[in-house]
Amino acid sequence: MNFKIKGTDGKARVGELILKRGLIKTPAFMPVGTAATVKAMLPENVKALGADIILCNTYHLMLRPGENLINNLGGLHKFMNWERPILTDSGGFQVMSLSGLSRKSEEGVEFRSHIDGKKYFLSPEYSIKIQKTLGSDIIMCFDDCASFQSKKNDVADSMKRSIKWALRSKEEFELTNSGILFGIQQGGIHKDLRDESIKRLLDIDFQGYAVGGLAVGEPQAEMFKVLDSTADKFPNNKPRYLMGVGKPDDIVGAVLRGIDMFDCVLPTRSGRTGQALSRRGPINIKNSKHKKNSSPLDPDCNCYTCLNYSRSYLHHVFKSGEIISAILLTWHNLYYYQELMNDIRNAIKNKKLIEYSKEFYKLQNSRDLL
Ligand SMILES: [Zn+2]
Repeated sequence: MNFKIKGTDGKARVGELILKRGLIKTPAFMPVGTAATVKAMLPENVKALGADIILCNTYHLMLRPGENLINNLGGLHKFMNWERPILTDSGGFQVMSLSGLSRKSEEGVEFRSHIDGKKYFLSPEYSIKIQKTLGSDIIMCFDDCASFQSKKNDVADSMKRSIKWALRSKEEFELTNSGILFGIQQGGIHKDLRDESIKRLLDIDFQGYAVGGLAVGEPQAEMFKVLDSTADKFPNNKPRYLMGVGKPDDIVGAVLRGIDMFDCVLPTRSGRTGQALSRRGPINIKNSKHKKNSSPLDPDCNCYTCLNYSRSYLHHVFKSGEIISAILLTWHNLYYYQELMNDIRNAIKNKKLIEYSKEFYKLQNSRDLL
């Protein structure tokens, strides 16, 4: 792995993360391909829209179709026809949030599959083994993510357990040489716990660092407060990834605070539920006021959807439950996210990120396309 910072503007950084399977321009947005597909999109389209890397999900893939089947068919990249880098999450977040009954111990988490109720056990060692079997490029430590409602004592316990699991994840990771490993900071919205988490992760030493346990229901101001006191405590020469974030305005705010990588289901999920995201805020295509509107979603957008289709058509295909509705809206949303990242990178290069963000927030709040 090679991570080069090409420029800075305040705490924001523009750079390149170079991995065996390709170069990732940072700040980067990773589309989410939960079950080995970015829903409604062909891999070549995801690439053409500007994604250098996507995220896949250990929890979902271990349950169905299973990591060994994928490995026998040549690994995850070949299986899903995506040649560029893939980051896999560890499954830690999903076993707690998606599975039925789960039981946590120091050893790991026992849980029942949300698909067929079958019992599984996931530990730091097993999570890392699965991610390696899949052939992941960026492997995440198995962590324990406390819910936003948890009391501080419970958040502290989760953070401490995450550190022990991070150490075990690294020991397992080092047994064979493949991919790179990121550590995950926990600690909720508590500065002292976040500080302790970073300090102990730095002692273990990782190739990149993630901020976990945010975007779990806390207000944006709380998230930014954590980043204000956190982001610049990670080493300058390593990538920083804010997990599961976020809305366009979350991303701009987090880049201003020193974050380099993001992932979120929002552009793809919204694409399937009738919401377009744009530089002028979200557009709800379900709304009947679009029924006879011949304008594109966003007249300033140059994506395939905006160049070729009216709001009237998009409203019609959504209302009719046509598959093309999900394709066209997801296309626009992913294009918009990658354009956003491109604009952010250029603004940092030109040391104009503050000016860019002021204009960005003004347009987002104008909502004049709604
Ligand atoms: Zn568009």
